[in-house]
Amino acid sequence: MSKEAKHTNYLVLENYIGGKFVPCGKHLDSFDPSTGELYCKVPDSGPEEVDAAVKAAKDAFPDWSAKSPAERSQVLNKLADLIEARLEEFVQAESKDQGKTATFARNVDIPRSAYNFRFFASSVLHHLTECSQMDHMGCLNYTIRCPVGVAGLISPWNLPLYLLTWKIAPAVATGNTVVAKPSEMTSVTAWMMCQLLEEAGFPPGVVNIVFGTGPRAGDALVSHPDVPLISFTGSTATARVITERSAPFCKKLSLELGGKNPAIIFADADMEQCISTTIQSSFSNQGEICLCTSRVFVERSIYPVFLSRFVEAARQWKTGAPSDPANNNGALISKEHLEKVKGYVALALTEGAQVHCGEGVDKLTLPQRNEGGYFMLPTVISGVTDSSALMQEEIFGPVTCVTPFDKEEEVISRANGVRYGLSATVWSRDVGRVHRVARKLQAGLVWTNCWLVRDLNLPFGGMKSSGIGREGGKDSYHFFTEVKVIAVKH
Ligand code: NAD
Repeated sequence: MSKEAKHTNYLVLENYIGGKFVPCGKHLDSFDPSTGELYCKVPDSGPEEVDAAVKAAKDAFPDWSAKSPAERSQVLNKLADLIEARLEEFVQAESKDQGKTATFARNVDIPRSAYNFRFFASSVLHHLTECSQMDHMGCLNYTIRCPVGVAGLISPWNLPLYLLTWKIAPAVATGNTVVAKPSEMTSVTAWMMCQLLEEAGFPPGVVNIVFGTGPRAGDALVSHPDVPLISFTGSTATARVITERSAPFCKKLSLELGGKNPAIIFADADMEQCISTTIQSSFSNQGEICLCTSRVFVERSIYPVFLSRFVEAARQWKTGAPSDPANNNGALISKEHLEKVKGYVALALTEGAQVHCGEGVDKLTLPQRNEGGYFMLPTVISGVTDSSALMQEEIFGPVTCVTPFDKEEEVISRANGVRYGLSATVWSRDVGRVHRVARKLQAGLVWTNCWLVRDLNLPFGGMKSSGIGREGGKDSYHFFTEVKVIAVKH
């Protein structure tokens, strides 16, 4: 922790520009979601700070992009070592900033953040470009890939360091320099990472982090003429604004957006495995993962049994103090978000749906110090129509709707009947059916008899309103580089 940052009760963060921490004149309050208390003051950066960061990144670009992939790879690996050496500090900070359990941050967020650097440090060493012979014309064509320049990276609050590093790592591995803006609600671990960049060997200006809100800092980055590329993860509504704001500059855009992900459960599924995985896919990280299941379609013959066992399992998914290892869920990100998520449960009741467990049904008992926190129990709802907002809109909280189906074709069409297309899960022991259904689902990722299994080499991303472009080993390499064809007459 930098010396000036720790005040009596809260942290004061600073931007990281050109290899230095730079104080900002204005700040935003950021709260610990598990208590509602002030956790830190986040710089409220605007065009001036963003401009300074872009200038630093632009100055650093010629030298950084001229280094060999192996040299850059060494720096990325060293940063991964440094994050791992301070794993528990990062875990505690991510949990306090986001509300997630320390267990989740320890098992998922922070190890994956370090691994993002290791993965791209390795994968960047193994790409080949193309060559085409035109012997009849005495010509040889080949492609090269060049870094784009200053990359603008914008990330959300649900997996703060994990998603930010998933962008920074490929961007710098391929020779770009970056200006990154984390979510104003979860800035602490990004700021902690800045304290390690110099020791890792990043020259000043290669990684710049500017903190602040979307409409001020984010917008200044998106509309900066010297930032030719924007990689954004967040909501579909924000993506629309970013697309409009970047259009006059014809920027290269990658958009990883929201989801309304279905689970389709056929009668021949392995019930044990299916229930425990669907509980995890519905409620992990308080349901605040873009890949979380929020619509569960169950074949009618097993529907009553499934529903009662699913509700019973949801009640076992414990919510409470994020530091307590007995809890599966911590707090939701903010008071406003909690109210929004609870609003969907209230809407379900007005529509005549049945709330089986959780919000309004079960009592949530919290330790005294967490009583001002933004907690909500896993909530299972049935009797909702497919056209209801509960089945159409991304809730992004611990709420899932369960509904019966009769026919394969029917469930495919209902699963596809939303504007999103990020991920889906299919549960069946019939191999032919699994392939058939997976092929017809409109989703960038389909998991069958599992959830969240990821090979980072493979493309990640959504179709329809869930995004444009893909991220992953080869896909990120392509996004963060420009391809050029060189034709040589010989
Ligand atoms: P959000 O869109 O509100 O904010 C995301 C980021 O964009 C933040 O850093 C925010 O400050 C910034 N931003 C907001 N307005 C901006 C503007 N006008 N210009 C530039 N930047 C702006 O999203 P959120 O609430 O932080 O995150 C939740 C959303 O993210 C959900 O929809 C979730 O599904 C999605 N998400 C998607 C993925 C994925 O990989 N597909 C992963 C995680 C989260």
